[in-house]
Amino acid sequence: MSNEPRFVILIGPPASGKGTQAARLCQLLNIPHVASGDLFREHLKNKTELGLKAGAYMERGELVPDEITIGMVMERLSRPDCAAGALLDGFPRTIAQAEALDRVLAERGHRIAAVLYIKVPDQVLIERVSGRRICRTCGESYHIKFNPPQVPGVCDRDGGELYQRDDDKEETVRKRLQVYREQTDPLVAYYRQQGILAEINGDQPIDAVTAELRAALAASSCTRV
Ligand code: ADP
Ligand code: ADP
Repeated sequence: MSNEPRFVILIGPPASGKGTQAARLCQLLNIPHVASGDLFREHLKNKTELGLKAGAYMERGELVPDEITIGMVMERLSRPDCAAGALLDGFPRTIAQAEALDRVLAERGHRIAAVLYIKVPDQVLIERVSGRRICRTCGESYHIKFNPPQVPGVCDRDGGELYQRDDDKEETVRKRLQVYREQTDPLVAYYRQQGILAEINGDQPIDAVTAELRAALAASSCTRV
């Protein structure tokens, strides 16, 4: 059993289930969930300078510029709880971000253990986004039909209020899908070439997706699952 830190990346289009699966995998792997979208929403809620800058891009469904995003995520990864690794969700999203991550991990003597690519057809994504509800306190993701909370509008985990994200409107979602195809899809080839990519069918029930992800992790160098 190796004690090497485990850095695992989840890639997939908006609403493919990254956040839902990350919550489960982090428990299994005992590493923190580092979600760039959650970090941006936290900054936005606290009205920090970074949050206000990022908010304008998020509202339009565009990516926040690389220099802002890379700095924010690297700062998060340098905190003590990431010494054992992290599950990255929503980062990297551009080749420049992926290269920056490779560089920083190499400087620290670390590497990426696995990249899990969750594939879901566009039509399904639109349906998932429109029913998505998020906890204001912990960011947990629910769906009014596919993954409802026990009490409508209330988070099972911490009782927080559930809300619909501003950028989950249909027109913004279409823009986010287009941005995904143009800027994030190339990462699939980037990591496939490195031999660390696993493709997961995300168009099945939540538990079945988790099972496939676990199997992919077990087959990777992330043996402690
Ligand atoms: P992402 O983090 O990739 O944007 P989420 O985890 O927030 O995606 O999931 C998007 C929406 O789809 C949420 O409402 C979630 O409850 C729902 N969802 C996630 N996985 C599935 C699944 N396998 N089947 C049906 N709905 C799902
Ligand atoms: P989703 O769960 O639908 O995939 P996220 O919560 O990850 O969406 O991201 C929401 C928004 O935050 C994105 O549309 C983008 O504006 C911004 N964002 C999140 N991660 C990144 C990133 N790695 N690079 C640039 N922008 C990002």
